[in-house]
Amino acid sequence: MSAQRDLCLSCFRAKRICYCGEIRPITPQTQFVILRHKLERKRSIGTAQMTRLSLTNSLLITDDHFEDHPEIIRILESHSFNKYVLFPGPSSITIDTTALPNDQPRIVFVIDGTWLDAKQILRMNPKIAAIQKISFLPGRLSEYGFRKQPAPHCLSTIESIHHVLNLTEPSLNSESLLHVFKHMVKIQIDYAYVNKLPPVL
Ligand SMILES: [Zn+2]
Repeated sequence: MSAQRDLCLSCFRAKRICYCGEIRPITPQTQFVILRHKLERKRSIGTAQMTRLSLTNSLLITDDHFEDHPEIIRILESHSFNKYVLFPGPSSITIDTTALPNDQPRIVFVIDGTWLDAKQILRMNPKIAAIQKISFLPGRLSEYGFRKQPAPHCLSTIESIHHVLNLTEPSLNSESLLHVFKHMVKIQIDYAYVNKLPPVL
């Protein structure tokens, strides 16, 4: 009972480490659809929910099979969007050097989870895997200092989307995404320090 009272029902984190007061929502032209591996939901420091709260037009779906979800079916069947998946690979468009077309509204799928989760999700969702992939050049370490990333250039979901927006919608001020993320990292590290815990949950 008391555990429920202590939980923020927006970010689903304990109220003492809630970041909601620092969220400044923005509405990009791109709609981001965040696909969160169902195992990732159990990890309390994921940034998928933070991203959903920060982008007013975003969608967050938690599962491992996504292609039966009505909203995903609607997107996949529609020809009214330019659709992309943020995932590096030999066939991906590098958005640092290649501009994406603006003839239709844009939807970008972003997989939230570990590198292995992402590969598994694409394997299990062939229609999503078949969408044109986009990627950006590595070159920046994640601020996510306390959570081990599989490679130095692997960013959290909210950092990745911030980077995509910087490249594709440079006139949009998307710094609020990094602001709330850095705030969350700080309160997490502070909380771990005060409680003498390792800063990984
Ligand atoms: Zn909250």
